[in-house]
Amino acid sequence: MLFISSIPAFYDNYIWIIENENKHCYIVDPGDAKPVLERLKRDNLHLDAILITHHHRDHTDGLETLLAHFPNSRVYGPSSTDISIINHTLCDGEHFTIYNISFTIHCIPGHTRDHICYYGNEMLFCGDTLFSGGCGRLFEGTPEQMYNSLSLLASFPNETKVFCAHEYTLSNLEFAQTVEPDNTELQLYVKKVNALRKKGENSLPSTIGIEKAINPFLRTHQPSVKRAVNTTTDSDLETFTALRRWKDEF
Ligand code: ZN
Ligand code: FE
Repeated sequence: MLFISSIPAFYDNYIWIIENENKHCYIVDPGDAKPVLERLKRDNLHLDAILITHHHRDHTDGLETLLAHFPNSRVYGPSSTDISIINHTLCDGEHFTIYNISFTIHCIPGHTRDHICYYGNEMLFCGDTLFSGGCGRLFEGTPEQMYNSLSLLASFPNETKVFCAHEYTLSNLEFAQTVEPDNTELQLYVKKVNALRKKGENSLPSTIGIEKAINPFLRTHQPSVKRAVNTTTDSDLETFTALRRWKDEF
């Protein structure tokens, strides 16, 4: 059994912590060491390993300090990256286990070229590729790469929990409602997230099922989304490209 919770960092980052019942843990994308060390100390946890999704500093800057405190912890991450501190590089399709739960690595380029995700047992750690209600910006990859990466994530079971790395949900939903003002599932989700955020609670994890119903970037096949980007094209990739450009300027 794995227990997953978030450690808030910076303004809107989440560092996910995966614990087992024996006070051991993995950490995902530690952009900052301080809140992680505080949490490990508070709960008396031992750090076994760190998972990295991509090279951006808000996901990696805590690595050095964490390794200074836990020199034997493994650091998993993409093989194409320039982070020399990663000592277990992972390739597309590779399997590995986190406390007896099997995870598969998928390359999901788009936000960066080196972006990977960790998927296992209906849990998905997807960094800055899929957000609730939105997706990452295209800093290095092409629209086609991002479209293919998101299509892969959308193919996972509806129950899959989406542990993404930022609390961008409300601002993403503002855009989503502009794209699909008549989407009733989206309206209900906005209410739910608003209530959670008012209480100071995390809007995540989301699920793949929810995202397919409310996230316009996973809905580029829908006539409503095609109409919103003013396109007559049958190509979902072209719709995605126009939608991403629109969001960049929104
Ligand atoms: Zn990033
Ligand atoms: Fe980020």
